[in-house]
Amino acid sequence: MGTSLTVERGLVPQIGDLPMSGDESHRMRRRSSPDRSAELFARAERVIPGGVNSPVRAFRSVGGTPRFVARGDGAYLYDVDGNRYIDYVNSWGPLILGHAHAEVLAAAHEALAHGSSFGAPTEAEVALAEEIVARVPGVDQVRCVSSGTEATMSAIRLARGATGRPKLIKFAGHYHGHSDALLVAAGSGVATFGLPDSPGVTAGAAADTVVVPWNDVAAIEAVFAELGDQVAVVICEPVAANMGVVPPTARFLQRLRDLTTAHGALLLFDEVMTGFRLARGGAGEVYGITPDLVALGKVVGGGFPLAAFGGHADVMAQLAPVGPVYQAGTLSGNPVAVAAGLAQLRLLDDDVYADLDRRADRVLDGLAKVFAEHGVDAQIQRVRSLAGLFFAAAPVRDFDDAKAADHQRYAAFFHGMLDRGVYLPPSGYEAFFFSLAQSDDDLDATVAAATEVAEAL
Ligand SMILES: *Cc1c(COP(=O)(O)O)cnc(C)c1O
Repeated sequence: MGTSLTVERGLVPQIGDLPMSGDESHRMRRRSSPDRSAELFARAERVIPGGVNSPVRAFRSVGGTPRFVARGDGAYLYDVDGNRYIDYVNSWGPLILGHAHAEVLAAAHEALAHGSSFGAPTEAEVALAEEIVARVPGVDQVRCVSSGTEATMSAIRLARGATGRPKLIKFAGHYHGHSDALLVAAGSGVATFGLPDSPGVTAGAAADTVVVPWNDVAAIEAVFAELGDQVAVVICEPVAANMGVVPPTARFLQRLRDLTTAHGALLLFDEVMTGFRLARGGAGEVYGITPDLVALGKVVGGGFPLAAFGGHADVMAQLAPVGPVYQAGTLSGNPVAVAAGLAQLRLLDDDVYADLDRRADRVLDGLAKVFAEHGVDAQIQRVRSLAGLFFAAAPVRDFDDAKAADHQRYAAFFHGMLDRGVYLPPSGYEAFFFSLAQSDDDLDATVAAATEVAEAL
């Protein structure tokens, strides 16, 4: 949804101009120009809107040709022109162990050999649900769906059904998938009443959505003072990570917990991004706050289409077939996706998160130093290993701040890194994703590439 920027290719030195040295050769190797990607993109644009199946993939906010991927292996992505990239997108989060992880793929293969889908319950779904319930604070029961969009959409319906109230409160700049009532982010300053963000979302569909600025205690208190008895649910990304990474300020989440409890509304943590990424139990564990409902996605599916929502047993009991709130899915709990997700989850213990944190330290501390040395105003905002980079002079606390950051500079940085074999998220409104497959050499090569790019910025 970012604006298009034209990137001046002359802003960064081209790889051919740079010196080469022994063990850094993989990074410094002259890169093939993305001819085959460009060819495929042209073909794609004829038959797929914008050439992509999800908008950010089109590189519109950074300019240039999206790289078509041939394969992934561990820390790396390989494009169809034979270039290798250290990947900091990792399928936008799911691949926390890296690409083509042997155990995850083996689990998927084994499940697949027994059939791809049954539309009937399986033992593995129960094991997955048990694993989630054991890890995530506030989740007694869980239902599987196929995307994060479905998870939040279904959880909102459940919250409205369970409370008998209409209003949902969301925060500006938070992304919860593309269902109608949640595709509303407009508004700055004080609370704004829902204006749909996209043509095709009717005013009616968004009328019960109230948008509040993130980290603004006074604004959320004002909304509750006015509408408290109509509020079904407050949904938030406990660490906002779809406008870059914007952590909650101290006690903001606690204030949300207190306000929802006091007014009989439900608190829904959209942990599609943060769940199993920040820690074993997600943001709920990190912040010590237990929501009423949780939406999960990304990591939970191990790279397959799988997501879930869960919560307290009494709320979940409102869901069909036990209760009256309807929700269903032909491929929900797909056995191949469940097997992969479960295999990945079982590998994610506390040591893994400590290890991810160390990887994030190594790169992010390196980047901070590089930017400081080159006098580049940059904010690296992070919670555990979930991090984002804003080119801005002061910390980014909300969506207005995020929009005011220098996104043109991000585009230049992105392309400088891409030219040096580092694949960062192709938009300044997205997070960096670390994986366990990244070696110290990969992390150091990333910082070395950033040093060169920063010189040119
Ligand atoms: C990615 C994401 C979603 C949407 O998930 P999809 O699987 O893309 O539908 C929802 N909420 C958050 C916080 C996300 O990061």
